[in-house]
Amino acid sequence: MSSQPRPPRIFLSPPHMGGRELAYIQEAFESNYIAPLGPQVDAFEQRFARRVGARHALALASGTAALHLALRVLGVGPGQVVPVSTLTFIASVTPIVYLGAQPVFIDAESHTWCMDPEILAQALADLDRQGRRPRAVVPVDLYGQPSDLERILKVCEPYGVQVILDCAEALGSRYQGRPVGQGAAASFYSFNGNKIITTSGGGMLVSDDQDLIDQARFLSQQARDDAPHYEHSTLGYNYRMSNVLAAIGLGQLEVLDQRVAAKRRIFQYYRQALGSLPGITFMPEADFARGNRWLTVMLIDPGQFGADREELRLALEEHNIESRPVWKPMHLQPAFAGCPVQGGAVAERLFDRGLCLPSGTALSDADLERICAVIMERHRRA
Ligand SMILES: *Cc1c(COP(=O)(O)O)cnc(C)c1O
Repeated sequence: MSSQPRPPRIFLSPPHMGGRELAYIQEAFESNYIAPLGPQVDAFEQRFARRVGARHALALASGTAALHLALRVLGVGPGQVVPVSTLTFIASVTPIVYLGAQPVFIDAESHTWCMDPEILAQALADLDRQGRRPRAVVPVDLYGQPSDLERILKVCEPYGVQVILDCAEALGSRYQGRPVGQGAAASFYSFNGNKIITTSGGGMLVSDDQDLIDQARFLSQQARDDAPHYEHSTLGYNYRMSNVLAAIGLGQLEVLDQRVAAKRRIFQYYRQALGSLPGITFMPEADFARGNRWLTVMLIDPGQFGADREELRLALEEHNIESRPVWKPMHLQPAFAGCPVQGGAVAERLFDRGLCLPSGTALSDADLERICAVIMERHRRA
C-alpha cells in the first residue's frame, strides 16, 4: 500500500455549471412553480428551439423518453424493424424494443464513426426484398460527430423511411454549417449529467412538424383527452421535464458556446501532446462537420504503442483518472442477441482500440498535463 495521498479524481465528463442556474431556480421557487410544468419549461423549450433552428421543441425527462415518443408518433410498433447505429449507447436502441419492434444494427463508417449510409442502403434494400418497410431509422451523432444526414436522407427517401436523429451527444455541433438536427423528421438531445450541458437529467425532442410535437406532448402527459375529468382513449407516459430542472437548463444554454469551445480546446491539447506517439490516432472530423468534441477519443494500436486500450485505461485508473472504452457495439450486447446486423467490423475495431479521455470543460491545463504524463509514461515503459 502506498502511503502517499491519492491525487484528486479526474472524471470523464462531470457537470459544469455556468453561474446563472441558481438564479433561474430561485425564480421558479419564488413563483412557486415547483410542480411539474411552468414558465421555465416554456422558456427553455423556446430558447432551445431557436438555438438549434427547429420550429418546435418539447422538454422531457430524458433523451430516452424523447426517442420513445418520436418512434411511437411515427407509428413504430410490434413486428416492425428499425435500423439503428450499432456503435452507440444503449439508449438509442431500448425505445425500439419498448415498442415491440426489432432493431437492425448498422455499422459505422471509418471517417465519421457514425452510421454508414451505404450499409444502410443495403439493409433497406434487403428488407424491401422481404417486403418490410421500416417507419423510421435512428442514426447517432457519435461523441458529437455529426452523421452525414444528407446521404442518409437520400438513401431513405425512396422507401419513405423517416429519420430520427440521435443528437444526445451532439448539442452545439454543426453539420454543413448549420446546427445538427435540422433536416430530420425529428431530433433529440440529452441533458444527462455527463452531456455537454446538463439539467441533472432531461431531454429535448425537436421537429419542424407541429403535429408530431403536439402528439408527443399529449403522450408525454398521460394522454389526457380534452375533458374536465380525466378521460383517456389511449395510453401515454409520465415523461415531462420538471420546471425546476428546466431552470438549470436555461442557465446551461447560456454557456453552450463556451462549452463547445472548451471541449474543442481540450481535444487540441490532447492531439498536440499525444498525436506524435507511435500507435496513437484521434477521432477524425469529417469535412462537412464542426463537432462539439463531447469526448476526446483516441485509438491505440497496441503493437506500435506498446500497450493496448485496456492496459492504458488501467494505467490511468491507477492515477485516479477515469477513462472509458468506446461504446461496445450493440450487436455484441447479450441483451440484443439474435438481432440482425449489417456489417459490424468497423464498430468492432473502434471498440477494441478506442479510449475516451477525460473531457470535462472545467479541466485545467495542470489536469491535462497530469493525464498526458501518465499516457506518455505508459508508452515509455513499453
Ligand atoms: C445519453 C445518450 C442517450 C440518452 O439520453 P438520456 O437523457 O440519458 O436518456 C441517447 N443516445 C446517446 C447516443 C446518448 O449518449
